[in-house]
Amino acid sequence: MQSNPTAIITGGSRGIGKAIALRLSKEGYQVIITYVSNKVEADSVVQQIQNSGKQAKSYCLDLNDSEAIKNFFKVEIIDTSADLSVLVNNAGITKDTLMLRMKDEDFDSVVNVNLKAPFICMREAAKIMTKKRSGRIINIASLVGQTGNVGQVNYSAAKAGLIGMTKSAAKELASRNITVNAVAPGFIETDMTASLNEEITSTYKKSIPLQRFGEPNDIAEAVNFLASPAAGYITGQIISINGGLYC
Ligand code: NAP
Repeated sequence: MQSNPTAIITGGSRGIGKAIALRLSKEGYQVIITYVSNKVEADSVVQQIQNSGKQAKSYCLDLNDSEAIKNFFKVEIIDTSADLSVLVNNAGITKDTLMLRMKDEDFDSVVNVNLKAPFICMREAAKIMTKKRSGRIINIASLVGQTGNVGQVNYSAAKAGLIGMTKSAAKELASRNITVNAVAPGFIETDMTASLNEEITSTYKKSIPLQRFGEPNDIAEAVNFLASPAAGYITGQIISINGGLYC
């Protein structure tokens, strides 16, 4: 895997990350998807891409482990001289409960995976992209990082932090021709939202102007655009994709 531009997608085994991996591979990128536990699903995404004649590989990476993240960039990008063009910080977790009941460890783990890990990935990717004077970094934030949400003090703090980090990194890296943007999805049909009960789901749907949840491809198309030459003058932006729920 050395010739084509490479795109890294964290959490590419399922949901939004999978859709992004499939979309970017269609565009000609060789993709590296990371996962933490679902090897079977990650391998099936890789197989699907390889069946279409494109290059892909998967890598088991626990985003709670800073050293493992640094090692991933060394082994998969630096040691192989891969042409890292796109980093998509997609992997995320929720551990929802009301603030008064939230345990310290539930706050820490959500902030680690959703905020600290994207920081380390961005820093490691930027070291490589800075040398070649080009690159695209796209962070998957969330509507609740913009609006807040009951039961998600940890998650909304992490996603709001990711939005701030996106804007700061965009300013730092612009002179190196590296753009940094975020996509803020509303409710998208994935395993993450599958755990919501029927009543909550129908209440949310009524409050969405387009009256339905989005699909992973809705996010993948925006990511693909931000990675494309057409988006070369866009940086530090947060693209909201939420069916009109928050404008
Ligand atoms: P998902 O279906 O739950 O998939 C999560 C992905 O993250 C999986 O690939 C998972 O790997 C990986 N992951 C989880 N914990 C990890 C860890 N500790 N280290 C490394 N990878 C880890 O999630 P999704 O709904 O597609 O969400 C993708 C992104 O969009 C997240 O950042 C999420 O916060 C954001 N988002 C989603 C929605 C929505 O409505 N779905 C809305 C707003 C924002 P395994 O398969 O190995 O577990």
